[in-house]
Amino acid sequence: MTAHRRISFDNIQNNLSTTMLGRDLYVLDEVTSTFDACEKIGVCHGTVVCAKRQTDGTGRLGRSWESNEGGIYFSLILEPSRYGFDIQLYTLICALGVQRAISEHTACMIKWPNDIVSPDGRKLCGILTKIKLFDSKAGFINVGIGINANNKSFSDDLKYAGSLCDFLGREVDENRLLCSVLSEIEKVLCLSPDSLVKEFAEVCVTVGSRVKIVPAEGEKYAGNAKGISKDGSLMVEKDDGSLVCVNSGEVSVRGIYGENYV
Ligand code: ATP
Repeated sequence: MTAHRRISFDNIQNNLSTTMLGRDLYVLDEVTSTFDACEKIGVCHGTVVCAKRQTDGTGRLGRSWESNEGGIYFSLILEPSRYGFDIQLYTLICALGVQRAISEHTACMIKWPNDIVSPDGRKLCGILTKIKLFDSKAGFINVGIGINANNKSFSDDLKYAGSLCDFLGREVDENRLLCSVLSEIEKVLCLSPDSLVKEFAEVCVTVGSRVKIVPAEGEKYAGNAKGISKDGSLMVEKDDGSLVCVNSGEVSVRGIYGENYV
């Protein structure tokens, strides 16, 4: 891989066009996870902690995120008191920022609420949002983002993983892509909540799909995803005709890979 395309502190700084995001920057070789790394650093609004590898990258609901060399792994710290968004919209904000940035290279959509996928359903990026409470209010949000930029291979069990470089047939400049993601997230943060939800729904592959909702507890059920509600929930019409709002924290949504639920 060409050295200047690899994540480096100097190259990120040289390409950064944001006002706040990424101006407080840490670039590390290997971490357990960028979440863990943030615990050891005095973070503030806009801090970005980036690593070349994670040995214990985390996904949602206790899952793991494979984080080999070639991917872009970073935590972005946001202070929600600066904006007028519901806390649960921050995952959507960052997903839209990443989707916009990756779309400059290749077609992609958002799998609600937190993954960026290629048109053939390969997962190119995962996003995990953790909230840090202070005095029972959300003090900081730590958004962990893993982008499969130049990853050469994945474990056999990751049958839906895909790498940007495979779609492009060439390597991606990891520094430029990271900077473009930060710049797009900064722009999305300036949208109104209504505009955010509208644009998100337009590029969300889940909307309009047949989905199966798999709650952490309780019965699974199938339905048709109708849209995204103001608070970022997925609106699902169940087969009995009732409409439910599915909260992102509670469920896994399956369906875009063509599984048959009927
Ligand atoms: P699902 O994709 O099963 O609906 P999810 O999107 O909520 O669940 P995440 O927490 O976003 O799950 O991502 C974790 C899952 O993504 C893992 O269980 C694994 O299947 C897959 N995965 C892990 N590492 C990668 C990677 N580098 N690229 C693509 N997919 C990965």
